[in-house]
Amino acid sequence: MTHRLKPNLSPRLLGVVLILALSVLPVKSFTEAKETAPRFGIAIHGGAGTILRGNLTPELERSYNAKLEESLLAGYEVLKKGGSSLDAVEAAIRVMEDSPLFNAGKGVVFTSEGTNEMDASIMNGKTLEAGAIAGVKRVKNPISLARLVMEKSPHVMMTGEGAEAFAKQHGVEMAGKDYFYTERRWKELQRAKEEEKREEKKKDDKPGEKNGPDASSVDRKHGTVGCVALDKEGNLAAGTSTGGMTNKRFGRVGDAPIIGAGTYANNLTCAVSSTGHGEYFIRSVVAHDISALIEYKGMSLKEAADMVVMDKLVKLGATGGVIALDKDGNVAMPFNTPGMYRAYTDANGKPVVKIYKD
Ligand code: ASP
Repeated sequence: MTHRLKPNLSPRLLGVVLILALSVLPVKSFTEAKETAPRFGIAIHGGAGTILRGNLTPELERSYNAKLEESLLAGYEVLKKGGSSLDAVEAAIRVMEDSPLFNAGKGVVFTSEGTNEMDASIMNGKTLEAGAIAGVKRVKNPISLARLVMEKSPHVMMTGEGAEAFAKQHGVEMAGKDYFYTERRWKELQRAKEEEKREEKKKDDKPGEKNGPDASSVDRKHGTVGCVALDKEGNLAAGTSTGGMTNKRFGRVGDAPIIGAGTYANNLTCAVSSTGHGEYFIRSVVAHDISALIEYKGMSLKEAADMVVMDKLVKLGATGGVIALDKDGNVAMPFNTPGMYRAYTDANGKPVVKIYKD
């Protein structure tokens, strides 16, 4: 065989083969590069809960849709120009923090004491660095302070007064009580207190009878905001910002600032931001659990996110949802509540905004 082939490889034939190979090679490597180049993308949420069609006026529904789109596009523009996923996450979340529609920044919910206490976190999927703040009362954009903790301090999490002193030191914009106040949230607190009284009375009337784990709080926790993004460099980032849950005890910290529960990002797997009943999300380490199922079990993003939100959390009686984006740009947004304010960009960069289940 070798002997028979040899005479065929004349210098002339070799030349033809070489020319052919050279003309094919660049095309092939270009195609490969295109196939493996990560596409950029972004997804946001504005909280999950009992959001039913009948509960929102058409006007309010339009306001939510418009603000979600504005937030999404603020982040998308950053990515389109080649900016980082961290910048995109911060830009998108700031838009929702500045809107009274969401339970983050302006318009946050009230604690049982009638105060506002905000939590936020952000994570860089490339370096696994993270920053978080909890229980701050006067920071206009908590997500930006969380990022400063990540980038300008050796720590991951700061709380209350210490976090606010750090904010001032870095020239972060502060705001007074009046800025955060909205009548809508104040009324929600009054309703939550009445409901609490009714629950207490029920317990007194029927001692020993337990309420479902989420029985008294289903309506009280939508509006937390979050964002996950993948930039042109293939770097993932995630961020979450919230006022927590209406009528929470002062000093209570939810899942939003807990890395691995409310927020997680890892370039090897995915970026996740959670919303829901924080205590359950902390115990279930929701965001990291999704990443771990991908990393160690080889699950797809959708399988992993569905397993945690639609199976594990449901079995615990926990309500909520997540937005998740993987390193290839796939999006998953499962939630086990009637609705979740959410939006993402499709493969053509078009915004898709949704509120209800269908
Ligand atoms: N997860 C938030 C918390 O428990 C609330 C929410 O997402 O609505 O603080």
